[in-house]
Parts: sequence; C-alpha cells; structure tokens
Amino acid sequence: MSIATNESPTAPSSNVVDYLQLIGGEFRAASNGGWIDSVNPTTGQVWARVPAGNTDDIDLAVAAASAAYEDWRSTPAAQRASILRAWARSVREHADELWRLDSTDNGRARVETSPAILGGAGQIEFHAGLAETITGETVDISPTASTYSVREPFGVVGLIIPWNAPLAMFLAKVSAAVAAGNTIVVKPPERASVSVLAAARYLADAGLPPGVVNVVTGEGSAAGEALVIHPEVRKISFTGSTATGRRITEKSTSNLKVLGLELGGKSPHIVFADADLDAAAISVSAGIFTGSAGQACIAGSRILIERSIFEDFVDRLRIIASRMTLGDPLAESTDMGPIAFDTQFEKVREYVKVGSAEGATLAFGGRSGAELFDEASPLSGGYFIEPTLFVTDDNTSRICQEEIFGPVAVALAFDTEEEAVALANDSLYGLAAGVWSSDLGRVHRLIRRIRSGTVWVNTYRRLHWALPFSGQKESGNRPSNGPHALDEWLEHKSVWIEHGA
Ligand code: NAP
Ligand code: MG
Repeated sequence: MSIATNESPTAPSSNVVDYLQLIGGEFRAASNGGWIDSVNPTTGQVWARVPAGNTDDIDLAVAAASAAYEDWRSTPAAQRASILRAWARSVREHADELWRLDSTDNGRARVETSPAILGGAGQIEFHAGLAETITGETVDISPTASTYSVREPFGVVGLIIPWNAPLAMFLAKVSAAVAAGNTIVVKPPERASVSVLAAARYLADAGLPPGVVNVVTGEGSAAGEALVIHPEVRKISFTGSTATGRRITEKSTSNLKVLGLELGGKSPHIVFADADLDAAAISVSAGIFTGSAGQACIAGSRILIERSIFEDFVDRLRIIASRMTLGDPLAESTDMGPIAFDTQFEKVREYVKVGSAEGATLAFGGRSGAELFDEASPLSGGYFIEPTLFVTDDNTSRICQEEIFGPVAVALAFDTEEEAVALANDSLYGLAAGVWSSDLGRVHRLIRRIRSGTVWVNTYRRLHWALPFSGQKESGNRPSNGPHALDEWLEHKSVWIEHGA
C-alpha cells in the first residue's frame, strides 16, 4: 500500500493508493483511523482508499471553516476573484491527472470527464467574475430615511455531492460558494472521492487560505448526516437522489437549515415525425447511452416517439447502439464506460429483469458483465452493461416511472401532441426534456406545457454555466448556474436608516 502525499499522489493501477481529507489546510486520515476502499469499476479491483470520516471529522472541518470565515468574508471581492482565477489555472494545468482519476474511480469515459474538468475551470472563472457583481438595492421609501438591501454570505455552508460527476460538481459548487464569501465543508461520494481529494491539493497553491474549503470523505449516513445536522452549518447544497434529498430535508429541520436540492430525473425525450430523424436518433442515443453509461441526472431515459415513425426510429437506435464501443474509460475510443460500483450495477441489472417481468419488449441489449467480454479480458470483471432499450405502452410501469440510472431506456409511442405532453408530464420528476420537431408552433406550445427545469429543442444534454439549471417537481428546488449563480449562496439583509428631513 502506498500513501499519497500532498505533493505527489499518483494512481498506478497495480497499487492501492491512500488519499487524505483536507481539514483546516492539513491533509488528514479519518479521526477513527477508518478507510473506505474505492473500486475501479472497469476491473472490479480495489485501487485506492479514502478516509472513513465521521462526526468528529465533520466537527473539526466545521470548526476550521468557522475560524476562516470572518477573514474570507472580509477579503475584497477582487482578491477572492483573483484567487479563484489562480485556482482555475491550476485545474487546467492538472486536468490530465484529474480526469484520469475521475474516470478510474467512477468509470465515466474520458470523452466526458476530460471536457468536464476544463468546463469546471471555465465555471470557476465565471464565478470569479460574479464575485465582483454582488449588489443590493436602494429603495426610496421616505424622504426621512435611507433604505436599502445588501446580500451577505451564509457563513459555513455544506456541500454533498453524488458519484456520477464528483469533480465537475466540486469545482462548480465550491467556486460559487466561496466567490460569495462563504467557507465550506464538502462531503464527496464514498464510492468516488479520489478526484475531489486530489483536486483539493491545489487549493493552497492558488492562495486559498486554510479552512476556506474543507473536504471530509465518508459514508452519507455518517459524515453526510453529521454535516446536515451540524448547528453551525447554515446551508446545505445537496445533489443526489430524490430519496436522500427527502431524508436530508427531514434531518435538517432541527435548525431549519436552508436547503438547495438538485435531485433525480426520468426525463422524456420526444421525437415527432416531422423532425430531422438522422440528427434526432444520434441525440436520443447520446442522451441515454452516455460516457457515464446513463448515470446522468439529465439522461433522456423515456423516449417518446410518434407512432408513424416508431419502428423506424427504434431501428435507428438499435443500429447506433450496435456501433458503440464499451470499454476502458481511459481510452479515447471508448463511448461508454462501466457502471460506477457493484450495488448500482446489480440495481441496473435488476431493472432489466423488472422490465421483462412487467411485460415490456426488449428491443435490444440486456447483456452485462461476463456476457460481454471474453473471460480472459480484464474487463470481464468490470461492471459493464450494454445499451438497452425496452418498448412498452404502459407509462405506469416501474421502468417508466423509476430512475434506473444506467444505460437502460424505455420507448413509448404516442399519436398526438396532447398525448406526448401528457406522457412527458406523467412523472414525479421534472428535471429536463427534449423535443425534436420542425414545427415551430408545436415547439413553443411544448416548451410552455412540459413541467421541467430545462427543455432542449432539436438538441439534448447541453449545459452551460451561464444558463440557469434547476429541477421542477421532485427533481429539485433551486437553480444553480446562470448570471445569478451566486444568489444561491447569499442571504438578504435590509437596512433602514432614519435620518430625519
Ligand atoms: P445519493 O445516494 O442520494 O447520494 C448523494 C450524496 O449524498 C452522496 O455523497 C451520499 O453519500 C450522500 N448521502 C447519502 N445518504 C445521506 C444522508 N442520510 N445524509 C447526508 N448525505 C447522505 O445519490 P447518488 O446515488 O450518489 O447519485 C445519483 C443521484 O444523483 C441520481 O438520482 C441523480 O439523478 C442525482 N443527480 C442529480 C443531479 C442534478 O443536478 N439534479 C446531478 C447529478 C446527479 P455516500 O454515497 O458517500 O454514502
Ligand atoms: Mg470507485
């Protein structure tokens, strides 16, 4: 076992490497000495360990964040911005190391992790720019008073993130929180913490004072819950499943924390017969059979197809899927990596059985693990599932209503625009939707009627830091990104100065 230092952690696949938490500027193991194995899902082998942080580590990290708060909050915005820009440069410099760690840890293919990290650097710079735009409002109420509002950071905030895109989320959320003047404690996902811990090493180089950003790894039920109930943490930003979001909401009532929730999805991807079907088929396929093997909150997992083109469109998807390369996520040629860890792998495989048991027709795919690779291949021990499509006419079935979070989609036929809207909205979720049509009037009607935080038209899965992103219904409650991205991390204060006439 080799232990990574602050300076030189590397990730040779043949050795298990230990990564350390960042608390108050120091790299530390868990206070109880516990470790969590991180498995490389491409091979099924343990390749790294991260500390099993718990309540004691969270207490230390919150204390460090609290101690750093007044100085950080009083640091002029231009200086905070300049430190963030230095951080972005450092992320770019180390991008190659970081995407490799990310892809090794959660199996998301390079085709996604590499641009995501460069995008993360861009987003840090965007938030650096916003740091200098924090303003209040002057309100003219009375000639005898000056009345205005200001925005203030919350103080110590907490961030809990999922395993499908841990590093991109860390870069995006942490930069917004600290640009706004908060100090933060981050709890990365237990199954994929390595890239976040590696990235945390570069914060000090950028000039970020100790304690402004702290990272405590560990299980959600231990470190995560300790952060959620900590009385000094004013706000929690959580990205993850709707079920965990519900639990966090219950737990956080003890001190009425402010919660930002970005949750799951079961997004409809709607194709009308008048669409450019060549482009639509490529986009619909890429919307679910992603580099992260469908483990994307915005995966277009319910494919709604106008009945007159249904068979033809399913054939197109089948052909595209048959040409996809499943394999080593570090390879440039890989289109789709494995599922991130064993229990998620089993969960997705179980949904394949559920689909058949519910009477849906398997249009293509369905094989996984050793069925896909030669026994001699190192990949035969990996958590791979091939692109899979079910066809059904029952939108109440589990495969239509539950988030599978894998490369398994379901296709349903519709006859009318009205029916397409009804099917699209018949879900607890409301994260995203895609519409493929050349009829402008129809497109505008659907944009108004679909209940989701994002609607893509004649494209899919396009995100940009300058455009707000949020969920409706049980997919979330607060926008991130966009020109007002720092709002999520700021409280309001109003001032009334009575000075007489
Ligand atoms: P998850 O199981 O809800 O976990 C998310 C995070 O919460 C992890 O760090 C987890 O810790 C932690 N956690 C678990 N139980 C907790 C508790 N009781 N208290 C505090 N923290 C707790 O989600 P996931 O399976 O990792 O991620 C997939 C989900 O995220 C999907 O539903 C996906 O749609 C959603 N997602 C949404 C967005 C969005 O922007 N809307 C983006 C990406 C993903 P451990 O895992 O370490 O135990
Ligand atoms: Mg892993």
